[in-house]
Amino acid sequence: MNIIENNLKFKTLTKRESTDGIFVHHRVGDGDVESIHQQHLKQGWSGIGYHFYVRKNGEIHRGRPEWAIGAHVSGHNYHTIGICAEGNFETDQMSDVQKNAISDLIAYLKTKYSIKFVKKHSDVSKTACPGKNYPFDEIVGNVKSNVEIKPLPNINGKLEIVREGQKLANRFVGEDIPDIAEDGLRGPDTMKLGIEVLQHAMNLDYHVGIAVDGYFEAKSKAAFGHHYVQYGETQYMVSALEILLKLKGYDCKFECPGVFWNDLKKVFAQYQHNYQLTEDCVAGYCSFMSLIH
Ligand SMILES: [Zn+2]
Repeated sequence: MNIIENNLKFKTLTKRESTDGIFVHHRVGDGDVESIHQQHLKQGWSGIGYHFYVRKNGEIHRGRPEWAIGAHVSGHNYHTIGICAEGNFETDQMSDVQKNAISDLIAYLKTKYSIKFVKKHSDVSKTACPGKNYPFDEIVGNVKSNVEIKPLPNINGKLEIVREGQKLANRFVGEDIPDIAEDGLRGPDTMKLGIEVLQHAMNLDYHVGIAVDGYFEAKSKAAFGHHYVQYGETQYMVSALEILLKLKGYDCKFECPGVFWNDLKKVFAQYQHNYQLTEDCVAGYCSFMSLIH
């Protein structure tokens, strides 16, 4: 499965505190992700309201950043992720390739969050969405327990950087955490280890004593609090930042503890730009959440 990143520019976004559900929608029309983004901006929203947009050809596009509160289902945006399918399923029939892509995306999200439900928009709102022909049972029935994540297209050619990140991450977290394969692929193991890197660095810098378990939930969030690292600082959190950037295919040097100087600043600024973060060169909660997802 691939998620295609898009350089959409958003207005204000707010981080979502919990994620326990997924809602599916249809677009009631065709077109690319940029066209919905523009449509939602014109409605006065911060940008596309859905987190993912699955096209008829099976391409999965990122919409609103995954960590942000979406705008797709009234009353439930604060705890759910929205997936929109291209098409009008009041009249269209969905192709197998689009069905499978949505199933894979749901499987992937289930590996990342404690998802308790997957629902149709119409289950909670007075709407026809996602349309009477939307093959909901089939899509949910085909969700596999494990989905292989292929490297993102924009990480292609960066296997060596991700591999270097995996090597450093294996070393950084210490011997109590089992090593993962240093294969250069950003799959579920790599993402989990990335969270462990962050948890370990928080323990070293903030003495918070949290579990290094690869699940960034309530205790980790509370321990993170309003901490951040910025230019000029020397911390283990800077080392974590360097490793997490490498795990996303961004090359920078590594030191332990890390020093936040010009070379890191340049790479991190590029990352913040590409991932629609505030380009302030301050690595706070939103930046780290983006890096571990
Ligand atoms: Zn809907």
